[in-house]
Formats: sequence, structure tokens, C-alpha cells
Amino acid sequence: MLKLKSLLMVLLLLGSALTFAAAPANNLPLQNQLYAMGKLSIPERSQDSFFNKLQTILNNQLDPHSEALANILVADYYIHTNDPLRAREYLNIAKPLVNAVDLASLYQEYNYVLMLVLRTEGNLTDAKHTADALYRDVRESWPDNKLSDIVLERAYINSYMYRYQEAFELMELALSHAYESNDPFQLVETYNVFAILYGALNDYPSAIDYLQKSIEIMEANPQFTQNTYLYVNLADSYRASEQFELADEYLNKSFEIASNTNDVSLKAYAHQVRGRMLVDQEKYENALNEILLSQQLHKQVGEELFSFEINSELVKIYTELGQLDKAQSHLELAKEYARQLGSQDAHYINRLESQLAFENGNFEEAYQLLNQSYTQYRTQFNDSLTYVSNLSREQLDQERLVFENKLLEQENKLNTQYVEESKKYSYILWVLILLLLLVVGIALWIMLRYRSLARANHRMAFTDNLTKLPNRRHVFRTLELQHKATGQGRKPYSVILFDIDFFKSINDRFGHNVGDRVIQATRNICEAVLRESDTVGRIGGEEFLILLPDTDIKAAYTIAERLREYFESYNFDDIAPGLTVTSSFGVTEYMPEDETLDLVINRADRLLYKAKNEGRNQVMASFA
Ligand code: GH3
Ligand code: MG
Ligand code: MG
Repeated sequence: MLKLKSLLMVLLLLGSALTFAAAPANNLPLQNQLYAMGKLSIPERSQDSFFNKLQTILNNQLDPHSEALANILVADYYIHTNDPLRAREYLNIAKPLVNAVDLASLYQEYNYVLMLVLRTEGNLTDAKHTADALYRDVRESWPDNKLSDIVLERAYINSYMYRYQEAFELMELALSHAYESNDPFQLVETYNVFAILYGALNDYPSAIDYLQKSIEIMEANPQFTQNTYLYVNLADSYRASEQFELADEYLNKSFEIASNTNDVSLKAYAHQVRGRMLVDQEKYENALNEILLSQQLHKQVGEELFSFEINSELVKIYTELGQLDKAQSHLELAKEYARQLGSQDAHYINRLESQLAFENGNFEEAYQLLNQSYTQYRTQFNDSLTYVSNLSREQLDQERLVFENKLLEQENKLNTQYVEESKKYSYILWVLILLLLLVVGIALWIMLRYRSLARANHRMAFTDNLTKLPNRRHVFRTLELQHKATGQGRKPYSVILFDIDFFKSINDRFGHNVGDRVIQATRNICEAVLRESDTVGRIGGEEFLILLPDTDIKAAYTIAERLREYFESYNFDDIAPGLTVTSSFGVTEYMPEDETLDLVINRADRLLYKAKNEGRNQVMASFA
């Protein structure tokens, strides 16, 4: 027992020593896997499964390089799912590891996420610096989807810093990377930044146009869940062009999405735009509520990028509401945030400040500030900038066209593939249908053939071959049925039995063949005399039986007599010249005491025998 325990202890010690020894070893396959994960598209990197995979990896003992990468990717996940606070947390965990490993490739991964976090935190100067440097470092080695992302980020940051010219120049590059990446998500993002830039230049129709295109692609790809702020952007563009109903519609949609997905950041942004719209409509009290709510929500998720905007909006609202002290303190905050942003904009602040000075009765100051604002505005949007933006726009529109054509080409290629494939399938389908028809046809043919064979068999079983008249079996069965029916109260019936006279000698004189033809002619004779309802059958060599339903003995006798005469006078010349044939007949009628059919037949037979005996060619009937 003690031995086992100590053995276990030794094993345990060995095991932990091994794990400890394995932990710091450089796990190259894992590192490669993590680098590859970082190069996936943004929608893929924003999925829960992506996050869960990283958590599983992080649950193991990792080498510092892998651990740094995994933490960077978790931060990447959080920044793309609108949680910059958490993103910053994981970046902070990664930072000492990145420094310890000290590898260019790892710094790049870190800086990519850092650039996004810095921008969200409102530190645009550092964000711009990081993004510009990163692009220089990776433009030869990183895939186009990531390059497009970095360039878009640079353009976006520049737009926030009022550097429109640089932003527009970057958009050409962004578009070409988006095009090369073949990733529709990058196109969605590119169009969005275009919209932001045009919006900033007060070209709202263009902004709306780009946003609609962007949204169109997003909606065609339901996995693009992180672009829902596009609806708010569109609402803001509609607001700016005073289409308040449409703006409202898209805001409501955004609020709905935000509450469905628990997206606080989206909600914050939507409240902000609603606040702006209420300012436009001069509903300042309501606007104040919206903006304060927005401010609170932005803070909750750690977004400082919008603090300048929020505070400027508060200055405007408080000024309008006559709460000039509050307006003044928010003006100071707005100025502070503008400095933090590294914004080159001053005209907007000066205009706000001018308005505030006016409300305070400092008309001289107000006038000077307004003048300053005007000059700044002109410098910012001077003719050359408008020219550059127009020029860029033409080029960009052209590039966009090229991109869209490429996409269309791809789509067409897929369509042709699809058409060809469906052609192939329809061909196979047709072959199958034909095969099926063939099988059904064969089955039908076999069935019909079998039926006709069965019919023929049936006919043969009940038909005499020589005369095609009912055979003995058939005629007796018919007779049996008639007999039974008569016994159950139907009208009586009569039977004629007849036999050709001296048939043997016909065979002898003219040959068997002529004999056969005489038997066949008997059928014609019978058919000439009998009714439709009568049944005649051949029951022996040259012996026939006739059933006459609903016929009494007198009528039957007349019929037999007519048959006898017919035989006697029938012209057999075409069978054998000079041949005459006669027949003898026994005729009887059903009588109530005839319990069995045999009694009737025997009586007819006896009468026939009597007719033969008494000289042939005559009819003997039971009443005679
Ligand atoms: P009877 O007047 O007494 O009836 O004389 P018969 O010669 O007709 O006498 P019987 O009934 O004894 O002879 C019938 C002959 O008919 C016997 C047979 O050779 C011949 N026969 C039977 N069936 C056929 C047939 O299908 N074809 C031919 N050609 N002859 C047949
Ligand atoms: Mg005979
Ligand atoms: Mg006979």
C-alpha cells in the first residue's frame, strides 16, 4: 500500500516536472496558428467561436510568444465587438510579454490592435502615429484585408483630425487593398469611411449614396454583424439633410438592433444622433436628455472618441437653454478634448464660443470669434481642398466602378458555374426521367402482353380450335348456369343436340380436310338460323349442342327443323363439288323434374339416337 502511494507520488512529481519543462518551450505550430487566426476577416474574428477558441488556448500553459498573441487576439475580438475597455485590459496583459519576446512580427500584431484601441479612446495623435508606422512595416507582408483595414483606419483618424486631403488620398489606397482582398466586408468599411468624409465636407447626398451601397452589401451578408452602426450613420446623414422622418426610421431600427444585441456602444451613438436631430428641431430640453444619456453610455463602454462632439453639443444646448455657466464649463471640456484628439479644427469651437459670448452680452468678443471662425472655416474648406476632394472623388468613383465590375465579374462567373451545373443536373434528371419512362413502358408492355396471352389462353381453354365456337367445356358450363337459373324460377330452356350424318364416309370420300371444312361450315349454318342469345358449341367430332334460353319445346323444334332444312339445302360446292350433307337432331325442353342437367342431356341424346335409328336427317323432339 505504502509502495503504491510513493509510486504515485513519484509519477506525479515527474508529470509536473515535465509540464513545467514543456511550458516555456517555443510552440511554433501554435504561434503559426495564432498568426493565421489574426489574418482572418473581421467578421470571422468577431465570432463567439473565435473567442472561445482563444479562451481554450489561454487555459493551457503557453510559451510567452503564444501567450502574447492569444491575448492580443482577445483584445482584437473585444475591439471589434465594441468593448474597448476589455480590449485595453488584454492589451495590457500582452504588453510585457510582447516586450520580452521582442520580435517585429509580434509588435506588428500588437500595434494593429493598439491603433484601434487608441482611436476609440480618443487618442488620435498616437493612433495616427501607430497606424502610419504599422502600415509602413507590414505593407509588403500582410494580406490585403488587413492592409485595407489599416489604411481605412488612417483615413478615418485623419477625418476626425480634419485632415480631409490626406484622408481622401488614403481612400484610393484603401479601395485598392479592399479590391485585392476580395473581402466584401472591407468594401462595406471603405464605403462607410467615404460616407464619413463626404458628410464631413457637407456633401450629404454623396454620404447617403455611399452608406446605402455599404448597407446593401452588409445586408447581403448576414454574418456582418459588427456594421450595424451604419444605420446610425445613415440616420445622421438624413438628419443633416433635414430628412427627419427617414432619420427617425433608421434610428428606431438602430435602437431595436442595439437592444437585441445588447450593444451599448450602438445605443450610445443612436442617442447622440437623436439628440443632434432634436437640436436641429430646436427641442433643446429633449435634446439634452438624449445627449446626457449618450454621454453616460459612451463612458460605460470606455469610448472617449466622441467626448469632443458630446461636449460641443452640450455647449450648444445649454446656451440655447440660457444655462450659460454650464455652457461655459462644457466649452472648456470640449476644448480640452479637441486638444487631446489632436484636432486641427477650431472654427466650430470658436463659433460656439462666439454664441456664448453673445448670450453673455460680450458682443465685441462674439464678433471677433465669429470672424475668426469664418476665416478658419474658409482655410479648412478652401477652394483647393474642394478641388482636391472633387478630383479624388472622380478618381475614386472610377476605382469603385472597377471594383464593382470585378465583383460583378466574379458573380457572373459563379452564375455561369451555377447555370452549367444546373444544366448538368437537368441533363441527369432527363436521363433519369427517360429511364423511368422506359421501365414503366416495359412494365406496361409486359403487363399488356401477359394479359393478351392470358386472354388467348382463356379463349383457347373455352374455344374449339377448328370452328372457334365454344368447346364442350364451355357449352356445358353455360348450360349448367342456365339450368341452375331455371331451377330458381326463370323461364325454361330447350336444348338441341345434333350430329352430322355419315361423316365417316365424307372423310373417306373427300379426305379429312374436306371433313374439317364441313365442320367449319356447320358454324355458318347455325349462325344463320340461331338468335344472338342462343349458344352453340362443338361437343364432339361432328356433334354440336345448342342452348336456347327462354324457348319452349315447340319453338325449339321449329328451330331444329329449320337447321335440318338448311343443312340439306346448303351449297357445299366450294368445299367439294356435288357434296350434300345432312344432320340428325334431338330436341328436348327443361322440365321441373329434371333435377340435374344430365337428365336433360341424356334425354336429348336418346332422341338424337332415335333420329339416327329412324333414318337420319330428321328431328326428334320429346313431345313427339
Ligand atoms: P352417323 O351418321 O351414325 O353419325 O355416322 P358417322 O359416320 O358420322 O359415324 P361416327 O359418329 O361414328 O363417325 C364420326 C367420324 O368423324 C369419326 C371420325 O373419324 C370423324 N371425325 C371426328 N372428328 C373429326 C374431325 O375433327 N375432322 C374430321 N375430318 N373428321 C372427324
Ligand atoms: Mg355422325
Ligand atoms: Mg358422331
